[in-house]
Amino acid sequence: MENKGFIRKTKQRKAILSVLRSTKIHPTADWIYEEVRKEVPNVSLGTIYRNLKILTEMGEVMELSYGSTYSRFDGNPDNHYHFVCEECGSIFDIDIDIAEKFETKVENKLGVKVTDHRMEFYGLCTECLKSKQESAAK
Ligand code: ZN
Ligand code: MN
Repeated sequence: MENKGFIRKTKQRKAILSVLRSTKIHPTADWIYEEVRKEVPNVSLGTIYRNLKILTEMGEVMELSYGSTYSRFDGNPDNHYHFVCEECGSIFDIDIDIAEKFETKVENKLGVKVTDHRMEFYGLCTECLKSKQESAAK
């Protein structure tokens, strides 16, 4: 006898994970919901939220919370940095490995052991910067 409930849950979670792993836009739960629905039509938004929480706790995905705005999700759970555009809300990965140096500096200064740290970069993305410059030139 097969456990249908378990299979359905696994299928939903797999669909969420594959949607997240195949995008670089760091989407909201709503966006993930719309994408997963194409594959699993009867999925609910509540199920998406629940599974995102589980996947985050499992260390499979990363939740990026920005205070008052909706959380964004990242299919890459490894510690890496993000640039957030304050104009359009785009989030980009910053592929520079500076983590180790920072942690070593803090460890040496305070004599502690650093296990984790967070850092965000904010500003204007290239697209928003371009349109700002274009409208200023008019
Ligand atoms: Zn932008
Ligand atoms: Mn990322």
